[in-house]
Amino acid sequence: MSAFWQALFPSSTRCVICHRPFYGDAAAQLCNHCLSQLKFIGEPMCQICGRPLRLAAVEKGKCLLCRQYSHSFQTARSVAVYEGFWRECIHMMKYFHRHDFVGPIASLLAEVYKQFFPQAEVLLVPVPSVVRKSRRCYDHVQALALELGRQLHLPVESGNLYLKKNSAGFSYAERCQRIAGSFGVHQPQAFQDQHIILVDDILVTGRTVSECARLLISCGAKQVDVLTLAVAALEGQNLGLGKANVRR
Ligand SMILES: [Zn+2]
Ligand SMILES: [Zn+2]
Repeated sequence: MSAFWQALFPSSTRCVICHRPFYGDAAAQLCNHCLSQLKFIGEPMCQICGRPLRLAAVEKGKCLLCRQYSHSFQTARSVAVYEGFWRECIHMMKYFHRHDFVGPIASLLAEVYKQFFPQAEVLLVPVPSVVRKSRRCYDHVQALALELGRQLHLPVESGNLYLKKNSAGFSYAERCQRIAGSFGVHQPQAFQDQHIILVDDILVTGRTVSECARLLISCGAKQVDVLTLAVAALEGQNLGLGKANVRR
């Protein structure tokens, strides 16, 4: 902090993202300027995947993808669309090892949890990825799930659900084709009769989390919902969704 800011705000907190000093909710570690750039998802949204809908796309409350696929999870909700300021924040945490972003970002995820999943008894399960571990040394999704559990006083089942197939190096379309049977569980009994909330960073088509949900339900989970930091805007051409990839 510069001497100027220190003189101006002697007992303020620094924003973890822009480093400006600020007064306000120090626990959130984010200044109002940064928070104002974040556009939380509101209605109208897809009732299944939580994707914001343009009014023209609304049909029975579902987006184009959710009208075509049936997911194994019940609902998915995200903080914001994967773009602009929020995309930058996620990138900083994910690729630049900004561990200090985990706490504030988890606090925003906690707000979405309280809004959409107010149930007291859920089990948080991070979605695993070999790519994350091998390329970035630390698994930011696991770190987020653990921090979310700490903030909300919820149990976290980490490391039980694991990735069997490493799809690193494959294109997005190829990874979609390989997703079936990609995950395994070490101890299925841990998921028995549980209401599970899968935690992940970005929801694109929802196939990955749907495959995780399918497996967890086969292990006896009674319900699986999904909480992600961001959801990709629905533009078929950008998602690599040729007709051959659409499961009906
Ligand atoms: Zn800021
Ligand atoms: Zn949807």
